[in-house]
Amino acid sequence: MKLGTKLYLFFAGIVILPLLVVTVISSIVLARSEQGTYRTRMQSSLAAAAAILSEKQRSAGDALVAALRGADTAALISGNSPARAAQLDSIRGEIGASEVLLERGGQTLAVSGSAPGGAAQLKTAVNLSGAGSSWQVTALKTVDSSSISGVFSLQGLEWGILEGGKVISGTLAGGSFRTSAGASVSAAPGAPGDSTFDARAGGSDLLALALSLPATLTSKPLVMVAAAPASAVGAASSRALAAGLILTFLTLALAVVLGILLSRKITGPLRRVNQAAAAGAAGDLGREVKVNSRDEIGSLAASFNLMQANIRSYVKELEESRSNIMLALSYAGDILGATSDRMRLIKTTAEAARLATGALAVWVELFADAGSPGHKAMSAGAPRDYFEGGRSRQATAVADDIGTGRIEPGEIIDLPGDLAAIGYPLRHGREALGSLLAMFSGREALTGQNQRILESLATQAASAVENVNFAELQKMLAVTDPMTGISNFRSFQDRLSREVDACRRYGRELSLAIIDLDDFKHINDKFGHQIGDELLKGVARALAGRVRQVDILARYGGEEFAVIFPETPKPAAMKVAESLRGTIEDLTVAGNPEVRVTASIGMAAFPDDAGDEKDLIGKADLALYQAKAEGKNRVVS
Ligand code: GH3
Ligand code: MG
Ligand code: MG
Repeated sequence: MKLGTKLYLFFAGIVILPLLVVTVISSIVLARSEQGTYRTRMQSSLAAAAAILSEKQRSAGDALVAALRGADTAALISGNSPARAAQLDSIRGEIGASEVLLERGGQTLAVSGSAPGGAAQLKTAVNLSGAGSSWQVTALKTVDSSSISGVFSLQGLEWGILEGGKVISGTLAGGSFRTSAGASVSAAPGAPGDSTFDARAGGSDLLALALSLPATLTSKPLVMVAAAPASAVGAASSRALAAGLILTFLTLALAVVLGILLSRKITGPLRRVNQAAAAGAAGDLGREVKVNSRDEIGSLAASFNLMQANIRSYVKELEESRSNIMLALSYAGDILGATSDRMRLIKTTAEAARLATGALAVWVELFADAGSPGHKAMSAGAPRDYFEGGRSRQATAVADDIGTGRIEPGEIIDLPGDLAAIGYPLRHGREALGSLLAMFSGREALTGQNQRILESLATQAASAVENVNFAELQKMLAVTDPMTGISNFRSFQDRLSREVDACRRYGRELSLAIIDLDDFKHINDKFGHQIGDELLKGVARALAGRVRQVDILARYGGEEFAVIFPETPKPAAMKVAESLRGTIEDLTVAGNPEVRVTASIGMAAFPDDAGDEKDLIGKADLALYQAKAEGKNRVVS
């Protein structure tokens, strides 16, 4: 069953049903009270009518007394019938009676007039004064119904005076008047009773109340009744009932409408919340429930809207973080691709780490003494402007501690300004090539996921750096003499041919020196091969220290070296060669002053001595041979 139906039934149960019961009961009470109203009206009308009759009897009595005072009493009691009759007629005429009787000792002596049988007669009896006590004059007067009719018609009633079960006066139809059970109507004398009864007269049904008129009031025992047509009473009752029913119906209709409105008002917002929740479950999180009430449903809707908004922003955050991670992954791919450029590599690593973790800033540093022999310390920060002005020094200090292991990988570092940082070394084997440091605006962002991302980026960056280092090493090994660290023969040949080409193209000149250590065999023989090696390295170092930056020094053979002097004419080159010879001569190694060597140097110049590099080498070789032949330790061109 729907909530709205339940609410409606509940509403009907506690409101409509009691209302219905109350209305029905009050209709019945109303109907009853309608009968009660008629009874009260009848009682008061009967009492008033009885009082009027009494009053009429009293005034008739007064009139009779007055008439008798002026009458000829002697004539009345004389026994003279005509005189007596004349007197009685005169009295009857004077007081307007229908019949006047002269009585003595209960015996009627004379009568004037005759009271009509079908009309109620008020009876007044007066003792004749001045005669014996047994003389009495009695007057009967037809009841004047008009004055009584007013009393009843005022109350909307009919009335009648009954004699022997028949209506003889009043507004009721003449003829028999009986209870609806067919009994003749009787009533106790005195005040009208409480019991109305159903009656029948002149073919119509009546509701009636009866009063016995006192025996002293009328000539015969009479009953006065007040009546109302049963149809009128019933109509009043059914009017009351109908009014009650209409009221009930209207109340019901109102209750139905109110019930529907109420259940709509309550279930409408719930239904909207329900629909929005169903839509949310199906993936539509954009629905907002509009409820303006401040009750529990209003707060439910508000909470629901808040929940939707939170889920929306959570989903948005998730999507953002996912796209950041995707971006970072593509950066990470770049890192592996950018294997030849260390700077780009660490910049990209820093940017990827920042994007993937939402860090405030990321610092990546490569240490100087690690990796390829050639490169210096380098660092990159993202965003770059964060590290301008002093922050880079702080980052470098922390990065050093991470690299040296003073700070453990993944250890949370509290930095000034409520910053929290975390770092990982860029490790190759046990050696740290550098370190990665990410700074967050608080510890909350240092989630396990962020830690894993940073650690993995540090690992990737380290292996990328190692790739660069390895490639550089390979390249260097290809052109370097491993023992002395200076260029090897192959590199020498390349450089010489390039330099000769350049000279030819730009019309420049260059000089070449080939240096052969003298009697080196003896050194080996005397001091051993190892000392011989040390001496070779020492010579290489010394030569490297003496030549200009632009000069190209190479190991030419076992104990032979070569120097290319670009853009240098032979005389100037001869001077340098002479100083090189001197340097070798003065050189001692391994702290042993006995380990000494001299060198013979053969020189040739382009284009003066030779037309190409092969020829140039040949000429220099020739000069060297000559130097040896002339006694060694000298420069020959
Ligand atoms: P000369 O004055 O005529 O040049 O005499 P020399 O002994 O220097 O000449 P030779 O060509 O006869 O011998 C070269 C010697 O240099 C032979 C070799 O043992 C030595 N030598 C060549 N390369 C190395 C090296 O890498 N280390 C050492 N310790 N000795 C080397
Ligand atoms: Mg040699
Ligand atoms: Mg030699």
